[in-house]
Amino acid sequence: MNRIIDGKSNKNRYLTTILLIIFVSGLVSFPSVLKIIKNINLKTTIMIKIEKLSKVFRTEEIETNALSEISLTVNQGDFISIMGPSGSGKSTLLNIIGLLDSASGGSYQLLGQEMIGTKEKAKSKARKENIGFIFQNFNLIDELTVFDNIELPLIYNNVPASERKKKVQDIATILNISHRLKHFPQQLSGGQQQRVAVARALINDPKIILADEPTGNLDSKNGNEVMELLTDLHASGSTILMVTHSDYDASFSQKTILMKDGIILSEKMNNKNVDVFAVNLNN
Ligand code: ADP
Ligand code: MG
Repeated sequence: MNRIIDGKSNKNRYLTTILLIIFVSGLVSFPSVLKIIKNINLKTTIMIKIEKLSKVFRTEEIETNALSEISLTVNQGDFISIMGPSGSGKSTLLNIIGLLDSASGGSYQLLGQEMIGTKEKAKSKARKENIGFIFQNFNLIDELTVFDNIELPLIYNNVPASERKKKVQDIATILNISHRLKHFPQQLSGGQQQRVAVARALINDPKIILADEPTGNLDSKNGNEVMELLTDLHASGSTILMVTHSDYDASFSQKTILMKDGIILSEKMNNKNVDVFAVNLNN
């Protein structure tokens, strides 16, 4: 399978390589190179900073505290999974982070910018520029072809038509769906539909990928393909937050957050990622 790593740059790796070349060419002493490399690699960018975030859903009969003062920090390059029983607030949290829903209180900084209380237009801009969302039920538009579905975020971001075509073709090749670009979503298997949804989420090269039970509607083979994609994206430097019910899927992430009744109960670091079996994408 083509690796998504292609074409993506990892600033730290480049800087480290350049410094090593300088060292090898004898211009800088070994201890000072080590010191510089250490400093570079220690620098982390905070992508998401959430403090005391709350969400109350109010209907005429009932008030639900879906999130109760949640605090969470996500650094660049993190791969975090969120688990917990149904109704514990996982989707609510992801929807607020993805700027699809608003919080009732607290603070949510996306790349240093406060999002709570921000106008819809600014939030929509921040969403388009920074976030790729993958849903359990794919959320493709049935009336649009695969090509048009993948192209949509580029249109929202005013990318010129000629550039759009190339970008859609490139990402479709990576995800092995280029032979399905003229099809409609209902003509595809679940696994293919999720690959289209992943292509749509990635087409703008988002800084953060949010996935709400991305394998929930897939059989294990197609689920493994999606997990392999996310693992590749993480290896290429992407920041990923994924809600899952599967311990196996969560084991691909670096850290698992356990939610219950709108709060974060615990966090645990995972052992190094498990390898998925080799999968055949030619279907
Ligand atoms: P999870 O994704 O962990 O299953 P959700 O975030 O979907 O949980 O839901 C958390 C709680 O908020 C649940 O009690 C759910 O019923 C409630 N809830 C979610 N969305 C709405 C809504 N639009 N209106 C009213 N209550 C909601
Ligand atoms: Mg949910």
